[in-house]
Amino acid sequence: MTTFSDLGLSEDVLRAIQDAGYTTPTPIQEQAIPYVLMMRDVLGCAQTGTGKTASFVLPMIEILASGRARARMPRSLILEPTRELAAQVAENFEKYGKYHPLNMALLIGGETMDEQIRKLDRGVDVLIATPGRMIDLHERGKIMLNDIKIFVIDEADRMLDMGFIPDIEKIAGLLPQMRQTLFFSATMPPEIRKLADKFLSNPKTVTVAPPASTGENVTQIFVEISANDWQKREALRFLIRRENVQNAFIFCNRKRDVATLHKSLKKHGFNAGALHGDMEQSDRTATLDAFKRGEITFLVCSDVAARGLDVAGMSHVFNFDVPFNAEDYVHRIGRTARAGKSGTAYTLVTPEDIKLVTAIESLIKKQITRERLTGLPTEPPPKYGNKKNAPHNRSQNAHSHKRDHHRNSTQRESAPNNPPSNRISAATETADDLPAFLRRPVTAGKTSV
Ligand code: AMP
Repeated sequence: MTTFSDLGLSEDVLRAIQDAGYTTPTPIQEQAIPYVLMMRDVLGCAQTGTGKTASFVLPMIEILASGRARARMPRSLILEPTRELAAQVAENFEKYGKYHPLNMALLIGGETMDEQIRKLDRGVDVLIATPGRMIDLHERGKIMLNDIKIFVIDEADRMLDMGFIPDIEKIAGLLPQMRQTLFFSATMPPEIRKLADKFLSNPKTVTVAPPASTGENVTQIFVEISANDWQKREALRFLIRRENVQNAFIFCNRKRDVATLHKSLKKHGFNAGALHGDMEQSDRTATLDAFKRGEITFLVCSDVAARGLDVAGMSHVFNFDVPFNAEDYVHRIGRTARAGKSGTAYTLVTPEDIKLVTAIESLIKKQITRERLTGLPTEPPPKYGNKKNAPHNRSQNAHSHKRDHHRNSTQRESAPNNPPSNRISAATETADDLPAFLRRPVTAGKTSV
């Protein structure tokens, strides 16, 4: 078995790895580190959660250990699609580079430029940036890119989704021709392949998981319900009460739905936070830190905000909406079952989602187990403001539901016998059929019934 010391890393880096508690390199680290140390270009096809970050951070620390940065002329540049990912990479440099006096700067939007500029003036070895802020500072003349020796493009497929490719091309045009380029992407659609061909020279290709494969340790379940946001929220509450949730991401497709769902969960007593791209950076950072510390159990988020975030021991992912891009499904559920642990991913599926569901299953080449939730109300109870169709006698209804609870609450079916096309017809019933347990009040922070 390969060990970290077989990879050509120095004593100081090995010591930092040991301090981090890692005993063996992950496959991407084993494959990529020796080539990065040889100063070769690398094309890495790997998802987050595979140890990808350390596969470039560790050898970069080695390479940058010799030499010094000059003012405003960083020696390496790492581009990340989101501020959170950039911050996470910076944390990795701090962790693994603790025995090396490297200077690092994080250039991300949403934070004041003054401190970032001051750091650049002192000279930085490692510059970690989101493309927009990077271009902004360059255009203000605060930074020169002609001393960049190592250029890393991380999460290239997400950069493409977010429309950053022109920015990246512009930045690459400002860099010296003679440099080492490391290019990582979870998936390799043709546009990404073309971009890689343009930026890389005779790269070593390393692939650790087939593109768009889902982790084997994630139990995936599509929960079929009918199309109504109120019902979706009810179904979500039912699932999170039923499951023993340690901590979970809850994904919505739209920012405004993140806000609505967050409010609703809080109203129902769940310990929830929200994360989306329109929030102030300070709020995003504070929420994420609280989630990482376990002070928030449920983080309602958009894809952009949650991309690649590494939160230890995440037990669940809930897709409140089926993602528009099948690849996003892979990324979302990849937030759980990391580092050899197991996890569960629930996706709420309505009849309108049929095309998206088919796309996901054809991408991951797997049929996902269906569960049908019955007994969900179609209307909010009167206390939520809809009096017209609400049941007249709540306590009576509650009794009848208690009776039916065990028989009717859920029905899980394994996928192979149930192709998706004729399966998404959620068996919903009227408010009168709401099982009592779905109405039970929740105490703050309690996540299972
Ligand atoms: P990444 O794919 O870079 O987001 O890393 C996923 C997680 O794996 C992070 O929490 C890392 O700290 C952790 N990790 C990275 N390398 C190793 C390793 N060799 N052994 C155990 N955990 C690791």
